[in-house]
Amino acid sequence: MLPARHFLNLAMLGACLGLGIQFMGGGGLQPLLLMTAIAALLGVHLVMGIGGADMPVVISMLNSYSGWAAAAAGFMLSNDLLIITGALVGSSGAILSYIMCKAMNRSFISVILGGFGAGAGSSAAKSNEPVGEAKSVTTEGAVELLENAKSVIIVPGYGMAVAQAQHPIAEITKELRDQGIKVRFGIHPVAGRLPGHMNVLLAEANVPYDIVLEMDEINEDFPETDVVLVIGANDTVNPSAMEDPGSPIAGMPVLEVWKAKTVIVMKRSMASGYAGVENPLFYKENALMLFGDARKNSDAIVGQLSALIAAR
Ligand code: NDP
Repeated sequence: MLPARHFLNLAMLGACLGLGIQFMGGGGLQPLLLMTAIAALLGVHLVMGIGGADMPVVISMLNSYSGWAAAAAGFMLSNDLLIITGALVGSSGAILSYIMCKAMNRSFISVILGGFGAGAGSSAAKSNEPVGEAKSVTTEGAVELLENAKSVIIVPGYGMAVAQAQHPIAEITKELRDQGIKVRFGIHPVAGRLPGHMNVLLAEANVPYDIVLEMDEINEDFPETDVVLVIGANDTVNPSAMEDPGSPIAGMPVLEVWKAKTVIVMKRSMASGYAGVENPLFYKENALMLFGDARKNSDAIVGQLSALIAAR
């Protein structure tokens, strides 16, 4: 973040407009080339100021801008097809950005202006360092906890997509449900890297739709849940969004998994997620880390669970 960045953006915008007028007045190629260079700089500078959890909104907004640019080109070239397709891309991107902003409790304007009014440096501010020690668990320990639970919620995130762990997860779900255990999925609106990313993967693995619930539908049920299995999710289950007002993701609604009796977190290390924010969940009293690739660990859990059930 550069000092007086909003002023810099405004100055660059003014320069672009001035050069545009000069070009239209027959100023030749030079003002156009200069304007292109300034516009490229403006684009980079505008986006670099936006950080943390606002990133998905920026991505869909840039998508939307590309649509509006195509529509504008359509007007210049008198090409109806370009105008229509551009307007479709532009408006669908804008609607998606608005929906994401609402889901993440952000104002659309402040995201576009890169945290305007939030004070310089706030998105780069470090959240409170988590205290305590993270405890780890083996797949055998996880199987025992799952098997003795009455109610389980599975919370998938980007790591499940990377590991392609949806198929063994679907098998774990089936095995547990066959034992009479209540199993449901909790899906955060920005889990993964695309809107609806988790829903698509779970549908592909034939997980029944009626047990896949949105964040708002399941968030109140965590206190009555015995085990939460977090699979490669991080930012979307980060308690600092609610507990630390200085955190870059403060105010973003998250899945309140730490309210369950036990939380098992499957990931490879203590590394942070997309927003680059430390996660105090890993250090909570009731949290257990199951380190390793989500696919390998899920496969191991399926194997051990089936063997256990068959031995009965
Ligand atoms: P995160 O990106 O916060 O975290 C994913 C975690 O998965 C990482 O911490 C990583 O930890 C773990 N992981 C990666 N690979 C594996 C693997 N093979 N096995 C096990 N774990 C793995 O994920 P969330 O889904 O919780 O959050 C999504 C983030 O992406 C949010 O910040 C959101 O704003 C952002 N975003 C979302 C978009 C959307 O439209 N949904 C678009 C763009 C961004 P480790 O390295 O330790 O394994």
